[in-house]
Amino acid sequence: MLAALALALVVSPSAASAAPIQAEIVGRSVRDRPIRLVRVGDPAAPRKVLVVGCIHGTETAGIAVTKALRRADPPAGVQLLVVDAINPDGCARGTRHNARGVDLNRNFPWGWRPLDGVFESGPRPSSEPETRVAQALILRERPSVTIWYHQALNWVDLQPGSRTRLMRRYARVAGMRATRTPLLPGTVARWQNHRLPGRTAFVVELPAGRLSPAAVFAHRRAILAVAR
Ligand SMILES: [Zn+2]
Repeated sequence: MLAALALALVVSPSAASAAPIQAEIVGRSVRDRPIRLVRVGDPAAPRKVLVVGCIHGTETAGIAVTKALRRADPPAGVQLLVVDAINPDGCARGTRHNARGVDLNRNFPWGWRPLDGVFESGPRPSSEPETRVAQALILRERPSVTIWYHQALNWVDLQPGSRTRLMRRYARVAGMRATRTPLLPGTVARWQNHRLPGRTAFVVELPAGRLSPAAVFAHRRAILAVAR
């Protein structure tokens, strides 16, 4: 799996900032769409912040934030790892699930249990290629902070086992409220917080619809505020 991650490497200068940008295909979806990682900033920087714009294909507002991150200037010692869509088939087709009808955010191996319908978990943990791509990427990069965008509950979800102050700081800078919600089976944030203790993965539920340019800017600022 790790060998499959290093498929392509393109280095290009960023148009609007001095930060270098590298793009890499880290895996492919069920329908063979590429899953791209864009690295913004010094690739040797020790602190990594992963931001994923879309895992449920009906919740795509976060992609405006990940696109804007390409022009960000990360703080010293920080690199941003940006993935527009870990579920490129669902995001292209406008479906919550991947192309096999699985809710990827119920397919991760920590706390997994069989579910069907809208929360279809897949036949077993990590049954889906997109799940395995995410796991390999996360275990390779070991990001200090990971943000997963969803819609449309309009809050920052305070995950147990991760750093509450950091999540509250994100909410404050983005102008959102933060709240604790019941633990869900098989989610990627739970798996990350179990697998990489001391690091923080959390969910930002954006409001419904598209983000305004001001909201995109506020979320970009919030990411940089928790990146330090
Ligand atoms: Zn969602």
